[in-house]
Amino acid sequence: MHSFYPSQIIEYLYCPRYTYFEYVLRIPQFEEKFYKVQRGRQMHNEKLERNKNYLRKKIGVKEKWLDQYLGMPGLRGKIDEVLELEDGTFAPLDYKFAEWKDRVYETYQQQLYCYALLIEENFGEKVNRGFLVYTRSSNKIVEVPIPEESKAEIRKSMDAMLKIIGQNYYPKATKFKRRCLNCTYRNICIQ
Ligand code: SF4
Repeated sequence: MHSFYPSQIIEYLYCPRYTYFEYVLRIPQFEEKFYKVQRGRQMHNEKLERNKNYLRKKIGVKEKWLDQYLGMPGLRGKIDEVLELEDGTFAPLDYKFAEWKDRVYETYQQQLYCYALLIEENFGEKVNRGFLVYTRSSNKIVEVPIPEESKAEIRKSMDAMLKIIGQNYYPKATKFKRRCLNCTYRNICIQ
């Protein structure tokens, strides 16, 4: 069975045709490579910013597991921190080498939803919130709710992606036409 990374699911949620062009027709995205180069440069600095216990004290953490590579049928990924909280629930924590801009980007939320599924599956514990740490804003911690319907949406996306890849299924275009303006695939995509 195919197993997807959160970044692939995030692309699908942006537009289902990304999955088709990238994983059926195997046309890579330029942005993806650029992202990887940028990410490599940031890794070193990011490591220096981690492991600050006072952050976990603020949230009320009982136990922590760092750099967890987790998998389940259809999904896999690496979570910066898996936390057990004082209320008995579990939560993912993800470091962002970025500034806090007064709102949580949808992609960050979707990433945490994927992590929630991975934690529930592997640790067998409930996840109803996650945390983001913005290292360029004095390690500001932002709590993100993780509702059941958001986890269900990720599961639905995984099934739809398996259909696209397994059956060479050409999905509908995104409903948001604005997204097509800067899309890598706009020259080959019939909308
Ligand atoms: S051009 Fe629009 S519909 Fe086509 S892949 Fe890009 S975002 Fe999706």
